[in-house]
Amino acid sequence: MKKIGVLTSGGDAPGMNAVIRAVTRSAIAKGMEVVGVLRGYNGLISGDIIPLTVRSVSDIIQRGGTMLYTARCAEFRYEEGLQKAKHTCIENGIEGIVVVGGDGSFRGAADLSARGILCVGVPGTIDNDISMTEYTIGYDTAMNTAMEMVDKLRDTAQSHDRCSIVEVMGRNAGYIALNTGIACGATYIITQEEPYTMQDVIAKIQNARASGKHHFIIVVAEGIGNSEQIAKQIEQATGVESRATILGHVQRGGSPTVRDRIVASQLGYYAVDLLSKGIGNRVVGIQNNQVVDYDIQKALKMTKEFEHELYRIANEISF
Ligand code: ADP
Repeated sequence: MKKIGVLTSGGDAPGMNAVIRAVTRSAIAKGMEVVGVLRGYNGLISGDIIPLTVRSVSDIIQRGGTMLYTARCAEFRYEEGLQKAKHTCIENGIEGIVVVGGDGSFRGAADLSARGILCVGVPGTIDNDISMTEYTIGYDTAMNTAMEMVDKLRDTAQSHDRCSIVEVMGRNAGYIALNTGIACGATYIITQEEPYTMQDVIAKIQNARASGKHHFIIVVAEGIGNSEQIAKQIEQATGVESRATILGHVQRGGSPTVRDRIVASQLGYYAVDLLSKGIGNRVVGIQNNQVVDYDIQKALKMTKEFEHELYRIANEISF
């Protein structure tokens, strides 16, 4: 393979730049040319492509966001869009593409691979909601940001004897909620993966209060939402002044943590290694601390167990 492209697609995640750097440098080291495709699959359709050199990816490993920009692209879901993208690749001599994104982006990568442009997916999302991998790039940074924010909210909740209901991101997955919750000593963690009732939440607060606790942190997963309503119900039932905070996109930004930079470097390197051997329609990830790769269709059908044991521990030590 003589020339490859790299693109970032779907929601941005800290560490995407570190993948771009690893892909560019390792491909050049193998004697390949590299281009960056701008704004996800949109850039493939419109031909918005920039050359990447060893130096153009300097000074980005520590930056959040993505230097290639990211976007969603409705046109790519249809044959016409896919054919335009294929045409752009052929015209520019691009034989393979590293796609950094989530499950949606991998579906697109499978579609393009089936049309002769080999694609390798790299999981980049703060949500950790990709089944084939235990870890997705951006997750650690997002959890650390959320933890820092909840710690700050705790200071004010403590000062005012309040209950702070904090909604964290994760789309339909509760990984950020669970891990942030345990790291911040939340009184209750509400996720879609674990059954709960408002009576349970209220009873937990009342029991803790009876033992002398004056302020409370409740972490709510994005998939549950409804934080304002939850705050109202808690206040009504317990009499504890309750405030809801939705952390939002602050969790997507910031300098990637050491873990995100390392995994991004490993997976970016490995994705290029596959392409250099003429292997496509794969997605790379981490299982038992090892880099693994799977056929994209197979990866999309996999399921991942929630961390029920960690949830049980969090619940048992929070009162
Ligand atoms: P993520 O990759 O984070 O899951 P999305 O689900 O929004 O984010 O997908 C990102 C992009 O991937 C979409 O805008 C679209 O261009 C492409 N995509 C998503 N689903 C498909 C699909 N079923 N077939 C082809 N392309 C898809």
